[in-house]
Amino acid sequence: MVTIKKRLVACPNCSKLSEFAPSNAFRPFCSERCKLIDLGLWASEQYAIPEAIKPDELANEFSDDFLKQ
Ligand SMILES: [Zn+2]
Repeated sequence: MVTIKKRLVACPNCSKLSEFAPSNAFRPFCSERCKLIDLGLWASEQYAIPEAIKPDELANEFSDDFLKQ
């Protein structure tokens, strides 16, 4: 009988221990949420969004008046 030792890794996002194994698709993160959060932060730092493009301005661009034209 083969005993496989579980290796635990601390989630880089929330420090929660999770199993570092192929069964954990989000390793070394504890969950998909933490993985996405971490990747999101990483992406925002690597690919800075130009100053001109802001969520508020995009919302105005697609306002009701714009859609009715
Ligand atoms: Zn986590």
